[in-house]
Amino acid sequence: MATPRAEHHIAGQAVPDTASGATIEISNPATGAPVGVVPMSSVEMADRAVAAASDAVEGWGSTPVGDRVQCLFRYKQILEANINDIADIVVEEHGKTKAEAIGSLRRGIDCIEFATSAPVLMMGRTLPQIAVSTSFCRTEDEGGVGIDSQVDRVPLGVCVGITPFNFPVMVPMWMWPISVACGNTFVLKPSERDPFSTMAEIELTKDAGFPPGVINMVHGGPDVSNRLITHPDVSAVSFVGSTTVGEHIYKTATAAGKRVQCMCGAKNHSIIMPDANKDAAIDGVLGSAFGNTGQRCLAGSVVVCVGDAGDWLVPGLVERAKNIKVGPGGESGVSMGPLVNADARDRSLRYIDEGVEAGATLALDGRACQMPSEGCFVGPTIFDHATADMSIVREEIFGPVLSIVRVKTLDDAIETVNRSEYGNMSVIFTDSGHTARRFQRTVQAGMLGVNVGVPAPMAAFPFAGWKKSFYGDLHANGEDSVRFYTKSRVLVTRWL
Ligand code: NAD
Repeated sequence: MATPRAEHHIAGQAVPDTASGATIEISNPATGAPVGVVPMSSVEMADRAVAAASDAVEGWGSTPVGDRVQCLFRYKQILEANINDIADIVVEEHGKTKAEAIGSLRRGIDCIEFATSAPVLMMGRTLPQIAVSTSFCRTEDEGGVGIDSQVDRVPLGVCVGITPFNFPVMVPMWMWPISVACGNTFVLKPSERDPFSTMAEIELTKDAGFPPGVINMVHGGPDVSNRLITHPDVSAVSFVGSTTVGEHIYKTATAAGKRVQCMCGAKNHSIIMPDANKDAAIDGVLGSAFGNTGQRCLAGSVVVCVGDAGDWLVPGLVERAKNIKVGPGGESGVSMGPLVNADARDRSLRYIDEGVEAGATLALDGRACQMPSEGCFVGPTIFDHATADMSIVREEIFGPVLSIVRVKTLDDAIETVNRSEYGNMSVIFTDSGHTARRFQRTVQAGMLGVNVGVPAPMAAFPFAGWKKSFYGDLHANGEDSVRFYTKSRVLVTRWL
């Protein structure tokens, strides 16, 4: 059977890329079996997608919002019916376990449900009789003419989304459903590393009744991204990915006059207090560090143990992590799949070498774990006695490598967390409300958690980090996303 070639989705049609440009071959990271070929499209293809989105802007923007969200209601039903098949594609091309793939799709569906509330979310506000004008009164007795003021929220036009490999179905759903519910049209450029599940997600929009051009997708790499973010007909750009690329996207797109939000990289710290519930802390840290094989912007990859907390936490973590079954994500009993590709695997292996060289104690060596000899696997790895200056503590590894830093006091722990140049999320495990409150008020991160491993994004709440984890103003999801994908318009009325 011929290897499938990823197709674009433009003006409601699957569009094959017949150009003879560069391509990327995608293979299953667990087995090496070929999955498909992705075209690194030309800027002309990006222009074609923007042209289709521009053609649809006026009609879609003036379609009543109640009619727009009917397409999302239908889409949700279609997606629910196909959730299993799409999860299989995620497992095949990305390597997640089936449970992780289904979980990520569920979180995406939450975003669709949130977007169906657009008739309420987009509502404006009115203040009647904000002032009285006397200049055009017919008689003195009239006392003046009332002035009313109102603010509406209106769509922006064509919006662009550029997404990373680690959640190929969910992250696009932070963007396009709420954007189109608000009356915009959309062009998505998915990651070139696992675009087939995103393609399946977008292909299903065809049957939901969206008019042609409302949702478009074009494959490619930096050339396509850079054309989309500077295209004169594009109004806004949402980006999720690494900090280096996010900084570039933010600077370039804002200089081109676009509204931009960039959700970027991370190095998340969890604080464990001596009074924490031991089982909950061990459970939370394991899930946070090794879930999704550490390829998560919310992965808690550094744990700061206060006082003697490390004395029970580290043996507990090692004991549990040793029993994590590593293998192909589709196999039953497997709870940790491979990394997305050989580069990602080699990156994790390089950091393990660096940790050893820097003098951290290798409490669990993921290179020696029982796992398939072929494929992009690295087992759960735990470094104890790491220090804040080591690369394994400072830099985003994006793999299953956890570093434990031991400190004396809560203040030392907070200082360690705040020294990071990132600020996506931080959590604390403690039994003390006073300690939790101090953490909440002093830690510099956009997403905080108390006694949870991951303060996961919820569709109804804004989601993003601080510092180098985010560039922009309005975050993804929640009310922020409605404000991001609309602009306000004020009307002042006086009837003479
Ligand atoms: P990446 O930055 O390599 O790629 C993201 C997107 O940018 C892809 O679509 C890619 O094609 C495009 N791109 C890459 N180089 C580009 C360039 N020079 N110019 C223009 N576009 C370019 O990220 P990734 O490796 O796919 O994803 C992992 C990263 O994403 C991690 O750093 C992770 O923390 C981050 N992430 C952040 C969040 C968040 O909400 N903060 C969520 C998920 C992932």
